[in-house]
Amino acid sequence: MHELSVAQRIVEIVEEQAAKSGLARVTAIKVRIGKLSTIVPEALNFCFGFATEDTLAAGAELVIEEVAAEARCNSCGKTFPVTEAYFLLCPSCSSPDTTLLKGQELDLMSIEGETPDGEKPDDGRTGDVTPKPGDNVQ
Ligand SMILES: [Zn+2]
Repeated sequence: MHELSVAQRIVEIVEEQAAKSGLARVTAIKVRIGKLSTIVPEALNFCFGFATEDTLAAGAELVIEEVAAEARCNSCGKTFPVTEAYFLLCPSCSSPDTTLLKGQELDLMSIEGETPDGEKPDDGRTGDVTPKPGDNVQ
């Protein structure tokens, strides 16, 4: 299951960030997932529960923001919504010369947590969590 390796990668990064920020507990993790990514949000949420067991992020809420896909036509310059990435044709001029602008995101946006004394530092954006080839632990 692809989502499990992604969930484990998210937890890895979250634990690193939490250690740097001195968080005793992570309460919420926000990720942004493009509609064309191979990640199914429901499956990721499910795997996240397993991946966070016995970590600082146990019990944390996974907040998933889905990003609609959009492409631009390189012939006429028009941008248009995309529902599948395999065959992109411009709806205006039918050119196949198009560039996907967004929809394949897999980003860790923010981490919310508590320090041992109960403060809540703002961690902000922490980077891309797309697993690299070889990161797959299955
Ligand atoms: Zn066009």
